[in-house]
Amino acid sequence: MTADQPHKDRPHKDKFDKHGAYNEGIKLVKSQNAATQQSMSARAIESERKQPSLATQPAPSQPERRKAPRAWETPPEPVPAPQFDDYRPIVGDAEINELRFLARPLKGKTVKMVNSTAVGGGVAEMLNRLVPMLAELEVTTHWDVITGGNDFFEVTKAFHNALHGTEYDLNRSAQEIFLAYNEQNRQRMQFQEDVVVIHDPQPAALIRSKRDSPGRWVWRCHIDLSNPNPQVWGFLRPFIDQFDAAIFSSQSFARQLPIPQYLFFPCIDPLSEKNKELDDSYVQQICDEFGIDRSRPIITQVSRFDRLKDPVGVVQAYKLARKYVDCQLVLAGGGASDDPEGALVLKEVKEAVGSDPDVIILDLPPWCALQINALQRASTIIIQKSIKEGFGLTVTEALWKGKPTIAGAVGGIPNQIIHKLTGALVHSVEGCAYQIRYLLTHPEFAAQLGRNGREHAKENFLMTTNVRRWLLLLRVLMGERTVLQA
Ligand code: UDP
Repeated sequence: MTADQPHKDRPHKDKFDKHGAYNEGIKLVKSQNAATQQSMSARAIESERKQPSLATQPAPSQPERRKAPRAWETPPEPVPAPQFDDYRPIVGDAEINELRFLARPLKGKTVKMVNSTAVGGGVAEMLNRLVPMLAELEVTTHWDVITGGNDFFEVTKAFHNALHGTEYDLNRSAQEIFLAYNEQNRQRMQFQEDVVVIHDPQPAALIRSKRDSPGRWVWRCHIDLSNPNPQVWGFLRPFIDQFDAAIFSSQSFARQLPIPQYLFFPCIDPLSEKNKELDDSYVQQICDEFGIDRSRPIITQVSRFDRLKDPVGVVQAYKLARKYVDCQLVLAGGGASDDPEGALVLKEVKEAVGSDPDVIILDLPPWCALQINALQRASTIIIQKSIKEGFGLTVTEALWKGKPTIAGAVGGIPNQIIHKLTGALVHSVEGCAYQIRYLLTHPEFAAQLGRNGREHAKENFLMTTNVRRWLLLLRVLMGERTVLQA
């Protein structure tokens, strides 16, 4: 499929499709079970005990919790894609002019992006913006999606998990399925572009076409390869070695390879429904609908209900912090309705919450980008207490919104959070509780973290920065030796 048609801003259905299609509206999950609090040491926050707690105030009566409007049960109409000039007020004229300048020698050049899905997953989400943006700069960019049967996607999913370090016994049948579908796609595809970019392992064996193609080939790896299953990596590695360059999302994900490696951070679109500026009245409306009291501190984690996102750890940290400071906890996510593990994790979360009315659990359908945007904007602190993480786009979204952010020091998160400068990195429930309490009782410091975080996100993790990196790389690949020294 060639997907260089105008972008339709999709409300993050990708993150949910990993676990199956969603078809339900928002569920406001009220905690019902008796508290099953685990006994935890509060020592880490004990030292702060004597400090005056700015956030400790009598809790005003809660607004009535209402059901979400029915209109949210179906996806909204797609919004038109932004143009380059729409980004000028955000990143400045100089940045946009620079992009146009960098693109000038590339006019008329052609690029092909190849991945394994047109919708679903962060890769498709980013390509949905990148492809039209390059096209607007007159770099003709095609986007092809490989096809395969269930057997192929079962194998590539197993590869994906194994490359993230899961145990996996690579047998001959899996290798044959992988190679057969790659070969089938290779036979039907043309590779006449100046640069061919293969995303992730699924289409990696298309590199066999390199010998008959005039272009340079790049492998864009979006996954964490820091601890891969040796069998799967050993199988894929001979393909990767044949590329002209590889791109990783974090220094820690890179492997030793005989080809040049580049670091491209994932990015967010500041004009998407998830990240655009919102009227405060809309933020208020969403809070009212979910029964969130904006006159009291709001701590939020937005994440799939997945153990690696540690929602139970967030509840435990909130409970520890609540001994000292007043706050509400919002856990917004999806993945419970049709993902058996998601449902299990949601149940564990509800058990950990018990009957606390100040914990608001929201089970959201995938098209709620605007609502998530509003929840993030309403938050006093945003948490992403992951135990394992790819890059953690929720952290990027929080930083971009200028929110003091507390996050697990895993995966690509330390690229985003520089401890005590752009946010707070934590390694435990107690550490997380300590930071919640500290930031709620030191609002000026928290605000400074938020301002720094926004600058950091603006500088490094916006779509425009990503386009700049692509333009520079394309120029290097097309033979310009001096461009990186400019
Ligand atoms: N997200 C969402 N609704 C949810 C939970 C998550 O839209 O209920 C979005 C979130 O805003 C972010 C993405 O899904 O854009 C999650 O990306 P991240 O890299 O943080 O984690 P992943 O889910 O890919 O592991």
